[in-house]
Amino acid sequence: MTDAYKIIDHSYDTVVVGAGGSGLRATMGSAEAGLRTACITKVFPTRSHTVAAQGGIAASLGNNTPDHWQWHMYDTVKGSDWLGDQDAIEYMVREAPAAVYELEHAGVPFSRNADGTIYQRPFGGHMQNMGAGPPVQRTCAAADRTGHAMLHALYQQSLKYDADFFVEYFALDLIMEDGACRGVIALCLEDGSIHRFRSQAVVLATGGYGRCYFTATSAHTCTGDGGGMVLRAGIALQDMEFVQFHPTGIYGAGVLITEGARGEGGYLTNSEGERFMERYAPSAKDLASRDVVSRSMALEIREGRGVGPHNDHIYLHLDHIDPKVLHERLPGITESGKIFAGVDLTRQPLPVVPTVHYNMGGIPTNYHGEVVTLRDGDPDAVVPGLFAVGEAACVSVHGANRLGSNSLIDLVVFGRATGHRLRELLKPGAAQAPLPQDSADLALGRLDHFRNASGGSPTAQVRVEMQRAMSQHAAVFRTDELMAEGKEKLAQTYARMQDIHVSDRSLIWNTDLVETLELDNLIAQATVTMHSAFNRKESRGAHAHEDFPNRDDANWMKHTISWFDGWGGKGGQVRLDYRPVHEYTLSDDVAYIEPKARVY
Ligand SMILES: Cc1cc2nc3c(=O)[nH]c(=O)nc-3n(C[C@H](O)[C@H](O)[C@H](O)COP(=O)(O)OP(=O)(O)OC[C@H]3O[C@@H](n4cnc5c(N)ncnc54)[C@H](O)[C@@H]3O)c2cc1C
Repeated sequence: MTDAYKIIDHSYDTVVVGAGGSGLRATMGSAEAGLRTACITKVFPTRSHTVAAQGGIAASLGNNTPDHWQWHMYDTVKGSDWLGDQDAIEYMVREAPAAVYELEHAGVPFSRNADGTIYQRPFGGHMQNMGAGPPVQRTCAAADRTGHAMLHALYQQSLKYDADFFVEYFALDLIMEDGACRGVIALCLEDGSIHRFRSQAVVLATGGYGRCYFTATSAHTCTGDGGGMVLRAGIALQDMEFVQFHPTGIYGAGVLITEGARGEGGYLTNSEGERFMERYAPSAKDLASRDVVSRSMALEIREGRGVGPHNDHIYLHLDHIDPKVLHERLPGITESGKIFAGVDLTRQPLPVVPTVHYNMGGIPTNYHGEVVTLRDGDPDAVVPGLFAVGEAACVSVHGANRLGSNSLIDLVVFGRATGHRLRELLKPGAAQAPLPQDSADLALGRLDHFRNASGGSPTAQVRVEMQRAMSQHAAVFRTDELMAEGKEKLAQTYARMQDIHVSDRSLIWNTDLVETLELDNLIAQATVTMHSAFNRKESRGAHAHEDFPNRDDANWMKHTISWFDGWGGKGGQVRLDYRPVHEYTLSDDVAYIEPKARVY
């Protein structure tokens, strides 16, 4: 059956899947090391979701207020609700300033202070003096289009290196042999040809899986394809229960209004006109971390103090800020407000609601970008040949809750670290063994299955069923009852995958087929997210469990890892286990930050 597909073979030292901020940085690092490098991407590089990042990138440059990498480390650990690995966090915050200067030299047009230094704004959860406050200005910004500026600069830079780009190629599955990754199979969307990439290393940089929810700030392309491939390869994902809701998605549209809006002085009000964040977070107020602000908003709405005809959202005020400042520092969201809410920000408040924004969980890695798994009792066993970076990965620097502007820095720091590791481990042009006979069977069997699927359930119907189940049963607040129902609903939805209907049988730009392959990736991750969430009997970071409202370090300071037996008629069973949190730092320059109650 799969013999019908024409396979074109390629051989590289490194294959990077994904051309967002993390994928491009890893591609550059690999090519710079003299390795023959290919970068495969399903959308044109500068259309990756990184382009939509608004607020900025965190680094303790200390341009606008005093700052120190140890303060950044403290805030990140506290933000993670002590689920982050402190060795990886130390690595990230120490490398951050150099990574930002590297971007500056690569041509990112950062906003400037009067003295010519990079402008930095306050962001939620970032404080001075080891969390004591006042807020620090740590987030380097290019107006409110930082990701746009970054992605374009990185793409331009990457062209100067000798890397081959395979643009509008959809990666289907990894090639695994004896527990090691040997390459990847991809479909050329334009002409339907199948490409088999053999390589010494594969780097997954495929972004998040926000689209398993009904409303999300992320692009429609954020379908977690890398996580899907990893699950099919029998490797566990980590901490999938931790999904970040951003406090300010535009009501209805889901489009993001950056936290930079509150950084520049914006504030939230309820139907009584009250600045309610003063009650929930007396010192950080509207700049508390995202999980805290989102929960406060949800509580206000639940207690009947939401705004609008259905009392179901909150107002964000920027109308007190000088229009000149809005024009200079927040031009993009001023425009978004007009287009998506019909609101003139300089005069009216903006209707906002907590919206799915970021996946803390993902493919577990160490701080070199190497994928790790629990094997023979070793929780840090490396999967040879496989790397992951960016939102697809879980290093874990964000733990149970990511601080705003810590993702963009994660992309470039760990994209670069992966380049270093590839340089150490691989020899340019080293001979590679032939691939096993069946190397394309998994990918092509699955492709062929969905291409010919002729059941009674159109992809869009199954997808919306999954999205509604996630939005209803794994939202800001969770209960045992809600999540048990959610597991049930998702199992039923997963069963409908057997009955899926794809109407287009061609291989040329078949969006029906691609969306079905994406849905298959999404539903596997939705399912492990729901199971991991149901399993965690505590509240930590973004996981607010109403039956277990407190953090329980004695029993739950550990990473959840989850497997999914979804492919090959195994029916979608989930298996869970744990990896310990790294309760140690990388160097002796800083002491392990002991857990304590998290108040803002
Ligand atoms: C609206 C918005 C605003 C944000 N603002 C900020 C901010 O101000 N600061 C901050 O720190 N963070 C911000 N974030 C978070 C941050 O932008 C993302 O986490 C980050 O950009 C993800 O980058 P990435 O490199 O992991 O993946 P992405 O940029 O999502 O790129 C994924 C890449 O993988 C490719 N790909 C995926 N699947 C396949 C496949 N099957 N085959 C081939 N290629 C594939 C895609 O083509 C794409 O190139 C924001 C997020 C959103 C949604």
